[in-house]
Amino acid sequence: MPLNHRTSVRVLAATATAAALIPLTAVTAQAAPAEAAPAKAAAYTASCPAAGRVTQGYHSGHDGVDIANTRGTPIYSTGPGTVIASGPASGYGQWIRIRHDDGTVTEYGHMYERLVRVNDRVNGGTHIARMGSEGQSTGPHLHFEAHSSTSSTRGMDPVAYLRARGVGLPCTPGGGGTPGTNFTTWGTGVRVRADVRLNAAVVRTLSGPTPVYVDCQKRGDLVNAEGYSNDAWAHIPAFGGYVSNIYIDHKDAWLPGVPTCP
Ligand SMILES: [Zn+2]
Repeated sequence: MPLNHRTSVRVLAATATAAALIPLTAVTAQAAPAEAAPAKAAAYTASCPAAGRVTQGYHSGHDGVDIANTRGTPIYSTGPGTVIASGPASGYGQWIRIRHDDGTVTEYGHMYERLVRVNDRVNGGTHIARMGSEGQSTGPHLHFEAHSSTSSTRGMDPVAYLRARGVGLPCTPGGGGTPGTNFTTWGTGVRVRADVRLNAAVVRTLSGPTPVYVDCQKRGDLVNAEGYSNDAWAHIPAFGGYVSNIYIDHKDAWLPGVPTCP
């Protein structure tokens, strides 16, 4: 079968120019005693994978659901997870697979451009690809599948999968979800706190660089790292908390284009 897929993988390269934003020592200093490993995560609350019309449902001869729209329409990860495949795939032209934190796997096919690569961390709503018609396809659409695990060979009904996670098809990306501006954090053991204070409860610890959507920012406790200090904190709705802007991979202390939290 012809595989004239494009190889326009555009890696979301880290664009940090300030080494000062790698506050490893500060992170260590700020780190509290080790926390227990999180329990196996419950099913996540889904984000809409793509806007469009459902042109083919799930049936015996079709393991997923097709969402059609114009070429280039953004495709989003439905939930938090790790990219386990991103590349050419027979029939799909190109595909992306994401293993979610609840153990399930989502699969995206036919895109003309992929924006993530294997081992990238994504959130629900992370822009991962642009819709195309690569591989065995008669027009631009997203072929979306949901699997119970990485070893599953037969997809489950993706409409039911999404509905169980709060999204009905067709859907609108960002509608009622957690939109914002996409950034990536730096460092290991970065704490997400319930408020913009260093004594606020830790709601999540980021083990490594993590893509995050920031919907607003505000002033709070001053955080010092590597000779720099910053009192701005970024609100990450997906985590329900704030991370000091010093741990956001951006040269500016106050993130451009991000509004002030109310
Ligand atoms: Zn399909």
